Amino acid sequence: MKDFLIIIAAPVLSFLFLILVFVPMEKVFPAKKNQKFFRPDWFLDLCFFLGQYLIWGGLVYGALSYFNDFFSGVIPISFQNMIKSQPIFLQIFEVLFFSDFFIYWAHRLQHKVDFLWRFHKVHHTSEHMDWLASHREHPLDSLYTIGIINLPAFIMGFSLESIAGVIAFRGIWAIYIHSNVRLNIGFLKKIIGSPELHHWHHYLDRDVGNYANISPLMDIFFGTYVCPGKEPEKFGIHEKFPKNYLGQMLVPILPKKFGNYFFNFKKYFKSFFLNFEKK
Ligand SMILES: [Zn+2]
Repeated sequence: MKDFLIIIAAPVLSFLFLILVFVPMEKVFPAKKNQKFFRPDWFLDLCFFLGQYLIWGGLVYGALSYFNDFFSGVIPISFQNMIKSQPIFLQIFEVLFFSDFFIYWAHRLQHKVDFLWRFHKVHHTSEHMDWLASHREHPLDSLYTIGIINLPAFIMGFSLESIAGVIAFRGIWAIYIHSNVRLNIGFLKKIIGSPELHHWHHYLDRDVGNYANISPLMDIFFGTYVCPGKEPEKFGIHEKFPKNYLGQMLVPILPKKFGNYFFNFKKYFKSFFLNFEKK
């Protein structure tokens, strides 16, 4: 019973915390002034939020802990001791730098390689940006992203517990850059990531740019920085994709001919039961 209450309390408390932090920011500094709290597809994104907390989060964490154990077994201990002999600020800088470098290229590949885009496009089907939209992510896409972000830390010999704070910070940051917020940070937007840059990443074109996450320096360095100084008109993808949770979960992993059933899930569902009743 106690475990059950904890399982239920975690998403409820996180949900309330995120509402308390992000909704006032979205009201005071909105990017799209007329966007309502319950905007279209809000409940679809709520399904993703609940799915992450109640099902997929635990599996992703379990896989991460497996990767962590795997790397602690194969990386020479002398290399990890050398890393640990450096001043702590240098270790932190190295972890953040390499994880940003890895995730920049991993994210760019998600947009370039069709097999990776198959899963990543679920995240890009959001047509409205806010704090909740950031949760729309296929679990295999989350596993890929979180695995690669933490790879440098695992290679350098940090335990999962010691980087829990960094993982939590990255989670909150991901929510912030999706939120319906515009803060005028001036020249700092070339150093620190922002909703403005990430919203342009969610513009309709698959290869628009801004693949970096915490700092756009990688985008500037590798020529993919985009900041036109106006608001993107639309978000989403050009391709057709189901707008229901089951379809978004299953289409990326099913062969095309089965996946097609989920494009109009309600229609097939209804016709199946109507035919069933007729029989
Ligand atoms: Zn992307």
